Amino acid sequence: MEYPSCEFRPPLTEKTLAPMDVYLELQASRETIKALEEKLGYQAAEIEEAKRKLVQETTERLKVEHVLETERVQLKHHSYHDALTQLANRKLLIERIAQSFQRKNTQIAVLLIDLDRFRVVNDSLGYSAGDRILVIIAQHLKSLLRSTDTVARLGGDEFALLLEPIQQQGDAIHCAKRIIQALQLPLQAEGQDIFITPSIGIVIGTSEYDQPADLLRDADIAMYYAKNSGKARYAMFSQEMYTQILTQQQMEQDLRQAIEQQQLHICFQPIICLHTNKLIGFEALVRWNHPVQGIIPPCHFIPLAEETGLIIPLGEWVLKATCEYFVQWHTDIELPDDFKISINISIKQLQYPQFLKQITRILKQTGISGERLRLELTESVFMDNPEFLILLLTKLRKKGIELSIDDFGTGYSSLSYLHRLPVNYLKIDQSFISSLGQGEENLAIVGTILTLSRQSGLGAIAEGVETLEQLECLKSLGCDAAQGYLFAKALPQQLAKKLLQLAFSEDVPTPWVHLHESLSSTLSN
Ligand code: C2E
Ligand code: CA
Ligand code: CA
Repeated sequence: MEYPSCEFRPPLTEKTLAPMDVYLELQASRETIKALEEKLGYQAAEIEEAKRKLVQETTERLKVEHVLETERVQLKHHSYHDALTQLANRKLLIERIAQSFQRKNTQIAVLLIDLDRFRVVNDSLGYSAGDRILVIIAQHLKSLLRSTDTVARLGGDEFALLLEPIQQQGDAIHCAKRIIQALQLPLQAEGQDIFITPSIGIVIGTSEYDQPADLLRDADIAMYYAKNSGKARYAMFSQEMYTQILTQQQMEQDLRQAIEQQQLHICFQPIICLHTNKLIGFEALVRWNHPVQGIIPPCHFIPLAEETGLIIPLGEWVLKATCEYFVQWHTDIELPDDFKISINISIKQLQYPQFLKQITRILKQTGISGERLRLELTESVFMDNPEFLILLLTKLRKKGIELSIDDFGTGYSSLSYLHRLPVNYLKIDQSFISSLGQGEENLAIVGTILTLSRQSGLGAIAEGVETLEQLECLKSLGCDAAQGYLFAKALPQQLAKKLLQLAFSEDVPTPWVHLHESLSSTLSN
């Protein structure tokens, strides 16, 4: 843009002032002023435009920043919260515990909550119903706590609470009790009343703790303790629990080694037919010869093996080793067709998807017929998913394998569906046998079990027979078979083989009582 030229003129003075000059001077000034006015006007418009642009840019930038900030907040929320329940997650809980450590004079407690048998809810009602229940429980927990406390979901059916502040240990216990009580009311899902119980571990944050993860670990140990003591309860962490867990972990490691290093062996308890007084089978019972602790009975390590999943390799080993023994014996001694080996099978083995394949493989590898095996299953296996179980048991029966219900009378199995189960024998639990001869009542119970087994078309085997009196009683009630210390304890394999020789190659005097002593003496002679 060209501006009008404004040449220099000397200032107007009286001397220089003449009318024409004045006019011209005036004219020039006017033009100069006009040019300046135009210039200013143009600049004002430019300024206005610049101002408008600035406002627009600022607004846009603010908008973008707002979006970014919202995203930042959301991202932060996601990284600190559980997506399903919107509760705090582990990361936030750990940060809050760490912050509480800095507030030196406040006492805190951490509660770890695990829902009992939640898997059953998921399995029977489906995962979306399971999720809904988790959300309801999350809301329950929130409503029971103060705004200063933190409720977190650690994953699955595990929740954790940070109570801050607490005055005393009793406050944490009171909170745990309230949670247990609140969950006693049924929850609604899929139009059904669902009952959920929690197992709660409590730890008080003493000055000994300086790592949040240690508090969570100890709350977890206490929770585990509560679960093992029967579920639906709380437990306060103690140092003894910690020691116990360490011992258990050591035992788990030892058991793992025991399976690999052949420290396990099998003993065989004879089973006698009460109609013919003949030996009709052995029950295989596993033993652990620990290098330091000596013989450990199965009631001490089978539950541990079940809990840790070690029961799968352990059970497979028992099955295989037992079948191998059978083959060895049968090569040397002609064993009658009705001689069978009973093997205890835990529910965890039945739930193992490869169980059927495993047993089929063992039968094939060892060359023994399924008809030589009888699997003993405790009553409790029929509680969980009976339909699936019936299908599996039917497949086992098709292989000729017989089945017994072990410890019969101690579980809660519904007698009404006994006839639907593809089983062959009931094993009457030894608690009923040991009280035989001590009053009419026990006699009546055993009598009822025997009637029931007959009506369901099943055989009956009495366990834990220790006295002649009990034996006579069982015979008079028509019980089919028996085992117990009266005959023999579980025999090591050499004695078991000796017994087979006596029973099937030579003539053994009846009744078969106190076999253990007589066998031991034959072996040492
Ligand atoms: P169970 O199947 O009920 O086995 C019977 C238990 O009673 C055995 O104890 C046996 O030694 C004992 N017993 C036998 N006769 C008498 C008697 O007259 N009086 C008394 N007081 N007891 C008697 P054990 O060998 O300690 O086995 C305990 C449990 O461990 C078994 O109970 C069974 O549930 C489990 N178990 C043993 N071996 C195995 C195995 O290989 N696999 C699995 N899954 N469980 C096993
Ligand atoms: Ca058994
Ligand atoms: Ca039993």
